[in-house]
Amino acid sequence: MTHIAVLGSTNMDLVAYVAKAPQRGETVTGHEFRTLPGGKGANQAVAAARAGADAVSMIGAVGADAFGTQLRTALDHSGVDTDLLRTVDTAATGTAHIVVDDEGGNAIVVIPGANATLTGLAPGDEGLIASADTLLLQLEIPVEGVLAAAEAARRHGVRTILTPAPAQPLPPELLAAIDLLVPNEHEAATLTGLTDPHAAARSLLSQVPEVVVTLGSRGSLYAARDAEPVLVAAPHVTAVDTTGAGDTFVGTLAVALAEGGSVPDALTWASSAAALSVQRPGASASMPFRSEIDTQAN
Ligand code: ATP
Repeated sequence: MTHIAVLGSTNMDLVAYVAKAPQRGETVTGHEFRTLPGGKGANQAVAAARAGADAVSMIGAVGADAFGTQLRTALDHSGVDTDLLRTVDTAATGTAHIVVDDEGGNAIVVIPGANATLTGLAPGDEGLIASADTLLLQLEIPVEGVLAAAEAARRHGVRTILTPAPAQPLPPELLAAIDLLVPNEHEAATLTGLTDPHAAARSLLSQVPEVVVTLGSRGSLYAARDAEPVLVAAPHVTAVDTTGAGDTFVGTLAVALAEGGSVPDALTWASSAAALSVQRPGASASMPFRSEIDTQAN
């Protein structure tokens, strides 16, 4: 029985597709608008559920509004338990306002809304974390909330995996409560000041026991205090939309590790899942199901 708990953000992505993004004071007519469920926390929860975790629980917050209802329903339909996804009446559901131009460039405004209320644990959170194999964390909610959850997981011997995004300096006490850190190259450089991923990973090992630096189409680099680094190549595929690749990778990796897989096997499986996701549009919409990952990985 694998149980993955996630504490993190739940957002509605409001995406406008235009030929060219407007300048200040300018109005342009776009050609399409989409609302897509997002937020790194919710995305990782969906990735873990599709990868076949027996149970996935989302700890988060939405507003008492239509987006909140839609996001809860979307998570429920993905098989994610939302009992501890709170509805708050003091803030609107988090939103990301995204303008995508015809060259694939984007400009994004994120309004955290209800996500900003997650400054600590609420009744029930610690019990749920204690019952999980793994707790997935990211940084789209206040760092105090992330720290409280990581320390609760530590108290109960639950594995913690942190995606340090959006990139920002972190308090040492947070890193001290993390088992596996999964930054992309940019985040690894922000945390260490080192642009070479091997050097950044080595440096991070002074604060966390295991690191995976994701390298986009170049794959991922695993480093641990007591083992040689492992570079896992990404499958060669034609990417159409890499949004959510990192969240697919982490959610899937968590399931493989919770099932007792070896680190190299878990990384290969997660790479297969992420490679499938980049070949399809959308974030959570593009995440593969377990049978697809198994087919791609073999
Ligand atoms: P995002 O912010 O787009 O979700 P990220 O910046 O957090 O992603 P990346 O390092 O870009 O993370 O990608 C995560 C993993 O996804 C990589 O380690 C790799 O396994 C896979 N991946 C990403 N891009 C590609 C690609 N073009 N082809 C194959 N695999 C890819």
